[in-house]
Amino acid sequence: MAKKDPIPADLFNILACPVCKSDLKYNEGKTGFICVKCGNKYPIREGIPILLPPDMK
Ligand SMILES: [Zn+2]
Repeated sequence: MAKKDPIPADLFNILACPVCKSDLKYNEGKTGFICVKCGNKYPIREGIPILLPPDMK
């Protein structure tokens, strides 16, 4: 049985990696995203994608 997506598809479709602007994909378990190009990881917290570049701390 497939897990339900944590965020709506129309929101997912407009998301892009803040570093390289490439598309994102879900990680295993759909707890976050992985950039298809640069491989940076972004978490989803309470249904909200946290798209911050890893070097912004
Ligand atoms: Zn990227």
